[in-house]
Amino acid sequence: MTDAGVVYLVGAGPGDPGLLTLRGAELLVGCDAIVYDALANPALLALASVTERATPVELHDVGKRGGVDASARQEDICALLVQLASAGKRVVRLKGGDPFVFGRGSEEAQALAAAGVRFEVIPGVTAGIAAAAYAGIPVTHRGAATSVTFVTGHEDPLKPAETVDWSALARAGGTIVLYMGMKTLRRTTAELIAGGMPPDTPAAAVQWGTYPKQRTCFATLDTLADAVKREGLTAPVITIIGPVVALRDEIAWFERRPLFGRRIVVTRASAQSAELSGRLAALGAEVIEMPATRIEATDHTALRDAIADLSRYDWAIFTSQNAVRIFWDALRDDGADARALAGLKIGAVGPATAGALLDCGLAVDVEPERFVAESLLEALRQRGDLDGARVLYAAAEGAREVLPDGLRGLGAVVDRVVLYRSAPDGAGAAALKQRLDSGEVHLVTFTSASAVRAFVNAIGKDAARTAPGASIGPITSEAVRAAGLDVAIEASESTIDGLVQAIASHPWHE
Ligand code: SAH
Repeated sequence: MTDAGVVYLVGAGPGDPGLLTLRGAELLVGCDAIVYDALANPALLALASVTERATPVELHDVGKRGGVDASARQEDICALLVQLASAGKRVVRLKGGDPFVFGRGSEEAQALAAAGVRFEVIPGVTAGIAAAAYAGIPVTHRGAATSVTFVTGHEDPLKPAETVDWSALARAGGTIVLYMGMKTLRRTTAELIAGGMPPDTPAAAVQWGTYPKQRTCFATLDTLADAVKREGLTAPVITIIGPVVALRDEIAWFERRPLFGRRIVVTRASAQSAELSGRLAALGAEVIEMPATRIEATDHTALRDAIADLSRYDWAIFTSQNAVRIFWDALRDDGADARALAGLKIGAVGPATAGALLDCGLAVDVEPERFVAESLLEALRQRGDLDGARVLYAAAEGAREVLPDGLRGLGAVVDRVVLYRSAPDGAGAAALKQRLDSGEVHLVTFTSASAVRAFVNAIGKDAARTAPGASIGPITSEAVRAAGLDVAIEASESTIDGLVQAIASHPWHE
């Protein structure tokens, strides 16, 4: 046995990253190398980089798709696992679904055992159960099915004879869950009917089960092969045959969520996209992230000067969470904390910015009615204490002048401190342009005017105009229209929450 080297055969689950086990997630975070398959969701690999590491995790893509050389490649995979573990590495062998359900995980375990390499098996949620569940089909149901059979439809193309006894399965009753076997589906269903299974038995095919792009096709045993062909479903597909399939009329849920089937682009900087993307995905949307901008540091001399002498200000006003974060980091670098702002009143444009301040122990003194600069200005005006006040205005480069100008109009002395700029990013623009060109995208979301301009620059005017926009508020909408794009949705409250609500309640027309 090697000392430290170990291989974890981890089930990645069927696709939805939330279906990875806690143990699997823990191992992905802590391992040295990941050897993964085509059917393991690549989004899971991101878990490996959530913590800072001395050396980055080694990634080995050994994805293979049912070719004739699959068994030869399998030997290479086993050899790779042995080699990595023998070098003392903690290796995650990430396999789609469950490693021991039609996943050849057991062959890898045999090879590791033979080589004297330590290994552990972490089961996963298998596609046969999960894709069915996400299509609204329970694999067993009292009164409808008392047994379930997992069977592979795909037989080794090198094997001359069939080894599955379809007529025995036809007689057994219960639910049949078929893995693989798209190419042999017509033959399989015919054999089941020949074996005595009623041709009108409900049957379903679920492609990319548990993913936002899941597609389902419902038929009966005798019509399924035609239906699947007509709908153009290709691997990966799980086929479910049995009376339980009829239950989906009552209990389908995944495809009934409000944004299911909608492909929605999120253009927020990647450091800030998680909330919007997560909320849209939770409502069923397929989220495509294309960060139009990213936060770039600017020269902080003025910021440091302001921090060194905070007591000369009466007010500090923040226009974004980024501004708060950067200001706070600079304050801490200076050895100071929230007490340095003890004598100041604090203002923020919106609730997210106010929340970021509260995380630093700072509550705002003024709440605008609407979350735009004009509204904050109005609230400040109503207080009547800005005349002669000294205001520290912390903002992004190129921010609108509404607040500083308006404050000066109220008699305040304003120091405008630039904390960051939004620089163009555009990661993933080429792939997104293709999807826009092919008309696949239903909506592009914008949460700032700078993102609109950067998006159009990255994608090009023509492609950008193929999909309607959803905007967080009137200022962003203006920028969307100015870029020649259509504003289909505008949030009535300028927050992420407001934007998500406006999108979810939009009357969608194909
Ligand atoms: N070990 C895997 C199965 C691997 S065999 C598991 O436990 O799920 C590969 C087959 O699994 C595919 O051909 C398809 O039939 C099925 N499959 C895997 N993921 C799927 C998904 N998300 N949707 C539908 N079928 C899937």
